[in-house]
Amino acid sequence: MEKKDLDWGSLGFSYMPTSYSYVCNWRDGAWEEGGLTADHSVTISECAGILHYCQECFEGLKAYTTESGDIVCFRPDLNADRMYETAERLCMPPFPKDKFVEAVKEVVKANLEWVPPFGSGATLYIRPVMFATGVVIGVKPATEYQFRILVTPVGPYYKGGAVPISICVSPFDRAAPRGTGNIKAGLNYAMSLQANVEAHANGFAENLYLDSQSRTYVEEAGGANIIFVNKEGTLVVPQSHTDSILPSITRRSLVVVARDILGMNVEERPVKFAEVEAGDFVEAGLCGTAAVISPVGKITNGDEVIEISGMEAAGPVMTKLRNTLTGIQSGEIEGPEGWVVKIA
Ligand SMILES: *Cc1c(COP(=O)(O)O)cnc(C)c1O
Repeated sequence: MEKKDLDWGSLGFSYMPTSYSYVCNWRDGAWEEGGLTADHSVTISECAGILHYCQECFEGLKAYTTESGDIVCFRPDLNADRMYETAERLCMPPFPKDKFVEAVKEVVKANLEWVPPFGSGATLYIRPVMFATGVVIGVKPATEYQFRILVTPVGPYYKGGAVPISICVSPFDRAAPRGTGNIKAGLNYAMSLQANVEAHANGFAENLYLDSQSRTYVEEAGGANIIFVNKEGTLVVPQSHTDSILPSITRRSLVVVARDILGMNVEERPVKFAEVEAGDFVEAGLCGTAAVISPVGKITNGDEVIEISGMEAAGPVMTKLRNTLTGIQSGEIEGPEGWVVKIA
């Protein structure tokens, strides 16, 4: 199979249509068979539920080539689980978990020429998405839905080492207590865009959100969880009293890597922003599928600037965690059973 003639190393994080997408519709109370399509557009009624009451959710994972030439993806079963739970919270019919993993494999296999080669740092980003296609005008769940997976090649997140980023505490809130912060719904992003645009305009790479109930605990960034390392070298992972942190698969994997592979102490507990202000943490990182870990050099809160590990270089623990997880993903380091799933 010939690879597409793309300059893999200089791809950005942007959309490019590929050969096939996967599509499956829910009609008459059941998911249809589903399959591949070369049509990358969606035609829906002007009265479709997604357009009015925002019944929509998504996932994000990636397929890539290992050193030995296998095409694999990382823990797709956890994306299937999370999308299942998200759909239930939004009164959408959950997509069967086995069918989800099979659909990921099928669509990647159909687009092998778009999977970046080993060593390029690029990956094939996989974006499952589900939305209400059925018509609704009164407020209620729709009766028809579409599940879709698009894939698109994306470039290396960091072209040459992970560089520290500067983030700010957002004056906005991301997620309400007992709200939807723990599910991967597009609606959580719509209301974060203004905060995002303002943070970027002020020179920050990302927002750090505090819990909206007391505004004293650290929750997460706009699209990534945050983790810390304290002076004793313990990995400190914020937990939410109000269950409003998105359960990042990267973060959950890093906890296992830290504890079981690197032999580190790990504390998963609520973290007060006052601990950050007091200088308790010597390293911090944002974690998610795209970057794995973005080291955080400093955190600004209004007029206050808190140096974490500084803007010169990523701290040693974040570097070790990142290298270990990316090593497991690429097959260079043996990871827990079932994490790396072979597609081709
Ligand atoms: C997707 C997402 C993350 C990262 O999750 P991963 O499974 O690690 O990619 C973190 N926070 C939010 C709000 C997200 O939507």
